[in-house]
Amino acid sequence: MAGRKAAEALTNKTCKQIADLVFNYLNDKLEPAVKRDFQRHLSICPDCVSFLNTYKKTVAVTRSVRAEEIPPKVRNKILAFLRKRISRVGAYLLILVLT
Ligand SMILES: [Zn+2]
Repeated sequence: MAGRKAAEALTNKTCKQIADLVFNYLNDKLEPAVKRDFQRHLSICPDCVSFLNTYKKTVAVTRSVRAEEIPPKVRNKILAFLRKRISRVGAYLLILVLT
């Protein structure tokens, strides 16, 4: 869709890609250029910011275990949570761009 594309062009990263990068971002394992795009996306996408905060909180709740030590099961749960939101985020972006 045209609207969605415009939003993507702003950041070069879609929300779905951001979701996949969150784990590496928090572990500071992103390439500098990727990290820049990631942060740029966060600056215009409140949904991804709140996801990042949710993710961080979840990490904190699992009690100062390192993100690396989060069981894959938990990690997948978090990612699934975001993916479920993505369709809504996409629709929201579309509305935002078109109105
Ligand atoms: Zn986003």
